[in-house]
Amino acid sequence: MAKADADRPGRAGRTAAAARSSSEPVQASATKASAKKASRRSPSSLPVRQGEDSWTASDVAHVRAELEADRARLLDEVAAADLEIKSLLRDGGDGAGNDQADVGSKALERDAEMSLANNSREMLLQVEHALARLDDGSYGVCESCGQPIGKLRLMAFPRATLCLSCKQQQERR
Ligand SMILES: [Zn+2]
Repeated sequence: MAKADADRPGRAGRTAAAARSSSEPVQASATKASAKKASRRSPSSLPVRQGEDSWTASDVAHVRAELEADRARLLDEVAAADLEIKSLLRDGGDGAGNDQADVGSKALERDAEMSLANNSREMLLQVEHALARLDDGSYGVCESCGQPIGKLRLMAFPRATLCLSCKQQQERR
């Protein structure tokens, strides 16, 4: 089965080319760039991974709508959690009527509520960051390696800031 080898761009040719121009970065996609040249430079188009279709206006609208819906939901969650925490703080003090066990369980409840609120706040920041990147045109580029995050991944996780392999590396650490 030599098929896999046959699909690869000429190895010898690439090595020679790389050696010739070792002072400049080697464009990994250079050999295939000519095929897609026409679609590469449209100003509003976000980056895609090799083999993916380019972003259409409705794809971008879809991602933006998801992010805006997430933002609205998370703002609600954060506000609700803040209210809940405030009321727990009010009731959970060691004032009159609260015995030791009550104070303890209120404190646990408060901690749980706070960590939920922190999660929501963290997610909200990611969502707002993604929306800002949509606006400034940097959306879709991995913040770690600079390669396209990929349209499929962003359609599934619109607030992703890392490509899958950088994300996996981060999680392994
Ligand atoms: Zn990456």
